[in-house]
Amino acid sequence: MSHKNYDIVIIGGGLVGASMAAALSSLELKIALIDAFQFNTEETLPAYDDRSIALSYGSSLIYQGIGIWEAIKDSTAPIQHIHVSDKGHLGATRLHAEKEQVPALGYVIESRILGRALYQHLQASSVDLIAPAKLVQFSQYETHNTVEIDFDGKQQELQCQLLIASDGAQSSVRKQLAIPCQQSDYQQTAIIANVSTDQPHHNWAYERFTDNGPLALLPLPTQNNQQRLSLVWTHKTENVAATIELDDEAFLNKLQHRFGYRLGRFIKVGKRSAYPLSLIKSEQDIAQRTVLIGNASHQLHPVAGQGLNLGLRDVAVLADLLVNNTGDCGDAALLKTYQQQRLPDYNCVITYTNSLVHIFSNDFSPLAHLRAAGLLLVDRIPKLRQVLAQQSMGLKYRQSRLARGLGLS
Ligand SMILES: Cc1cc2nc3c(=O)[nH]c(=O)nc-3n(C[C@H](O)[C@H](O)[C@H](O)COP(=O)(O)OP(=O)(O)OC[C@H]3O[C@@H](n4cnc5c(N)ncnc54)[C@H](O)[C@@H]3O)c2cc1C
Repeated sequence: MSHKNYDIVIIGGGLVGASMAAALSSLELKIALIDAFQFNTEETLPAYDDRSIALSYGSSLIYQGIGIWEAIKDSTAPIQHIHVSDKGHLGATRLHAEKEQVPALGYVIESRILGRALYQHLQASSVDLIAPAKLVQFSQYETHNTVEIDFDGKQQELQCQLLIASDGAQSSVRKQLAIPCQQSDYQQTAIIANVSTDQPHHNWAYERFTDNGPLALLPLPTQNNQQRLSLVWTHKTENVAATIELDDEAFLNKLQHRFGYRLGRFIKVGKRSAYPLSLIKSEQDIAQRTVLIGNASHQLHPVAGQGLNLGLRDVAVLADLLVNNTGDCGDAALLKTYQQQRLPDYNCVITYTNSLVHIFSNDFSPLAHLRAAGLLLVDRIPKLRQVLAQQSMGLKYRQSRLARGLGLS
């Protein structure tokens, strides 16, 4: 079996793992990024799928720090306004970039475009891209870890000081470590698709809570003179087939009925995909010379568009600790500091996301009145609105260099 030495081995080249590798690529570290699927073919890497992602304003700063913002910014649609409402009840909250004194509250990008930009950045760097290669097992020692991979049918052994697991919600690193998880099935499934309307979106994003679950419409860049929006439409899982299998016209009619006419008429829908939704939170994110980031540590409900944004803040904090560290990358004290710095953000985002799902999926009538009052209050009271805006923009935890838009070197 062949052996190779690295400072850092990253398992999982989804959006979080690839962003981690891109962030560290400016440092003098020997890094390998491993994925079970080939990197350069969008069709085969499932993480770079048809989904669109709402990057918070904070994440746009992280990508500026990493150095890929220039490559992606023209492919994004800025979110200038957010409208949150509750179907069948009065009350709405509106956020505006101008009022919050930021160029945009966030930016929407198709994940395959973001994936391609990250791949191009990595291809031009010294990071070793190893794919298609699967983690077989790893062993932890006091001075290093060994990582056994199956690379194109051949076994290889890599040695590293630090193993970063960004291998998604079913993380095999987390499973091998036998770290328990908090898991809850929301019994909801998200249907995603791109839709077109006959009226311009003017860079508004909409979050509408319905009795079936939340429905989000995010502005996308105009394509062939056509207004496009990315739809994330949550259903109770038992009801999803009745919607996803409708023909285009019936699907658009149902969507129109749920959303209303704020954007005029829905006139076109693209390919639809379904994502079952659950919360998975690892009870521990560090082990000897090993750290879990992104969905390997936390998979969230997409209601507030926080999953990737939270993973990018993992990247920013870990990169900051590594750049300030002159010795061993897998140092236990460094990993402990990482865990301590990330916990408040995790607790805050998970509580926020879970509260939105549970409060707004509840048909109990006094709660419906209370949440209508809540939406009105947040709309009218600048301090409350500012708290919601800071959370949505991912600006609450901004100590690290990347989170301030600064490069690492
Ligand atoms: C419908 C929907 C809408 C969303 N919208 C938003 C949004 O608007 N904003 C936002 O911030 N987030 C959003 N999210 C969340 C976001 O998509 C995820 O948080 C993010 O993609 C997680 O990325 P990841 O790299 O951690 O994991 P993954 O994308 O799961 O990547 C894991 C990678 O690891 C590889 N891998 C796994 N096991 C192995 C192994 N044993 N060996 C080698 N490689 C392996 C896989 O091939 C994969 O490439 C949404 C999610 C959903 C479902």
